[in-house]
Amino acid sequence: MVIILDRKATEAQVENIVKHLEGFGFQIHKSVGAERTIIGAIGVKPNFDTRNISILDGVEEVYRVTTPYKLAGRSFQEHDTVIKIKDVELGGNKIVMIAGPCSVESEDQIFRLAKVVAKSGAQILRGGAFKPRTSPYSFQGMGEEGLKLMRAAADENNLLVVTEVMQMDQIELIDQYTDIFQLGARNMQNFSLLKELGKTNKPVMVKRGIAATIEEWLMSAEYILSGGNKDVFFCERGIRTFENYTRNTFDLSAIPVIHKKSHLPIIADPSHATGLRDQVPPMARAAVAAGADGLMIEIHDDPENALSDGPQALLPDTYSKLMEELRLIAIAIGRTL
Ligand code: PEP
Ligand code: MN
Repeated sequence: MVIILDRKATEAQVENIVKHLEGFGFQIHKSVGAERTIIGAIGVKPNFDTRNISILDGVEEVYRVTTPYKLAGRSFQEHDTVIKIKDVELGGNKIVMIAGPCSVESEDQIFRLAKVVAKSGAQILRGGAFKPRTSPYSFQGMGEEGLKLMRAAADENNLLVVTEVMQMDQIELIDQYTDIFQLGARNMQNFSLLKELGKTNKPVMVKRGIAATIEEWLMSAEYILSGGNKDVFFCERGIRTFENYTRNTFDLSAIPVIHKKSHLPIIADPSHATGLRDQVPPMARAAVAAGADGLMIEIHDDPENALSDGPQALLPDTYSKLMEELRLIAIAIGRTL
């Protein structure tokens, strides 16, 4: 285990940390650098809870030497990664907004909604052309025709595009139309797909698996990074728990955890996380307050007749009002939106 101390750690704090480690039976190897002190705690204790140490004053980070993710971790890169996607920067001070329908349904629909998205000040249009549906009888998406329509609607409104790639043999086609590949929750551990996305040179948004731990999620990013693609970011979209008053359980705490563990940006998707439109604005506000680098929100102007996820889609007016509220929250925490 490696303990990286805070630059400002006092001698008394260092002594206390060493005393704790020795108390747990570790041998200590202290290395005092010009910038900061690092303590190596030597001893094999597979079940040791590192929080016993990370909670102590003067400790900045505690790493198990066996941490399985290397490139995605803060130990590999201390500063935040800022992903440049054309003229949009994700991971910097400005919070990036992604909005659009769950699925591209028709030319009219995507052009109408792209206009709403652009007018609200968002930068990226979302929309599924290949849909991962729980039932084979549900709408499966418009396919390439949907990609074409979304690209055209985005271009007309000066927006970028994010859309889901469900399988390896779709990468080449989707690459022609999108600016960002969306890796869906159900594919977070599709390792062959992760490896192929690692070979592309477009940003990949990795949605959290339905029952994935944060470490498993980090490992999915690691797959892509290890293939050579450095532009990876996370999207918290809720996880499966015992709760059924919400579609999923929005794990807000994943935002600060990812920021602590990784240099990669993280955005939040309160739409899939809650599944009901009245719960989306409060969770969107909370995500911005918690430090999300961006949000992805589903909108629709005729949600009763939407071909997928109508109940969680915000109406354009509600969405525009929410954007105003989010701007105020961003300012309150020293960011812009
Ligand atoms: C989506 O964003 O369209 C989607 C299907 O989300 P998820 O993979 O998080 O369920
Ligand atoms: Mn959806």
